[in-house]
Parts: sequence; C-alpha cells; structure tokens
Amino acid sequence: MLYKHEMHTHTCACSACGVINAEQAVDIAIESGLSGLVFTNHFYHGNTRVDRHQPWADFVKAYEDDYLRAKEYAAGKGFDVIFGIEELYRPGKEVLIYGIDADEIAAVPEFRDMNIAQMRDFVISKGGVIAAAHPFRHRDYIPDPDNYDGDEYFNAVEIYNHQNTPEDNAQAQEYFKNSRLHKISGADYHRTEHEMGKSGLAFPCRIKDTKELAEQILRGNYKLIINGEIV
Ligand SMILES: [Zn+2]
Ligand SMILES: [Zn+2]
Repeated sequence: MLYKHEMHTHTCACSACGVINAEQAVDIAIESGLSGLVFTNHFYHGNTRVDRHQPWADFVKAYEDDYLRAKEYAAGKGFDVIFGIEELYRPGKEVLIYGIDADEIAAVPEFRDMNIAQMRDFVISKGGVIAAAHPFRHRDYIPDPDNYDGDEYFNAVEIYNHQNTPEDNAQAQEYFKNSRLHKISGADYHRTEHEMGKSGLAFPCRIKDTKELAEQILRGNYKLIINGEIV
C-alpha cells in the first residue's frame, strides 16, 4: 500500500488567504483518500495571518498551534498531520520547508532575517528539505516569474502545483528534467473550490512527523502524484 500525503496546504488561522480551518483540512484530506497532510502556511514574510508584533518564540508558537489543533483532531483516525512552512524570501518567490520542527525555528530568532542562502544552510544543517515553491508561476503578484534563482539554493523543487496552470507546470517539469533537486508535488490548497488528492507524494511507509518526511524525501523513497496519477 502507498501512503499518499498532500504536501502543500493553507488554513485560515495562519494564512490570510486560507479559507478552511484546521479540522476541515483534515476532513477534506481523509475524504480525498489521503493518509496525511502537511501544513505549509504562509510564514513570517509571507501572507501570514499570525500577528507578527509579538516576540519571535510567541509568533512561532502561535503558528504551530493550528497544526497542533489539526494533529489532535486527526488522532485516532489513522491520519498523520505534519508540520511545515512556506516562507517568502523575495517578492513573489517562496520556499516550502519540511523536516524542521517549530521548536527548532523558535530557538533561532535569526531565522526571521535570513536570506535564501542562509536559510538553505540552516535547513540543510538540520536534515531538512527546502523546496522552491511553484517556480515559473505566472500571476500578477509575481514580478519576474521566469527568473529562477538557481538549484544551489534548494535541495528540492515543486515541479507540480495543482493551482498552477498546465503551462506553468509544463515549464517547470521541462526545466528541472535533469536537475539534481528532489521533485515534489502539492495542491496549494486554500479553500474548498481547490482540489485535494490530485497532487502530493506517495510513500511506501507511514510518515508520522516532519523529520520522517524529510528523510524519505531526501532518500527519494516516494512517487509523485501528478494531476491524480501516481507516476
Ligand atoms: Zn496563500
Ligand atoms: Zn502555498
């Protein structure tokens, strides 16, 4: 059996653009036949709904609370909720980070002011995954969609984003065909009009937390779910 995980989900408590709440996210994922869900809400520099005007540790705790709420709700349902973040590092450019837990981010207030190279070093030193989110997305809020920063800043890339156009996804798949980066796929789920279950990663084993998730990605021990197909 394969354990399908959605890798890119937003909820209203932490993302200003998120509409569903933590419990709805879990229910929708279970209805979509998934085994797990990674919460990747917009973090400090992104479109967060968490109050930035509080001490760093409190900010991170407030961000973590929504994930903990979902995890508690999912307990006993055989469903795994996993911690992640999506952070903006320059206008229109975002990264998805897995394998770092909230305590590790809370312990490093410098995280807030890291540039992309520093963030990469931090994440990699902790055994995590730092993925370029939706490269080549052509939208009004992204100033230079074709300007990709380069493989040196990441160890993974979201080559399929279910909210991207087929053209944007095709451009990413072509560009990263021979890249050393680990390829991932995500829904970028924000509201019930979005589809879940058509993207994500399928693992041969159950994944219970963000550390296990990063380990399996870095080992390449998974298959991609692209537009509903396991490939
Ligand atoms: Zn959003
Ligand atoms: Zn997102």
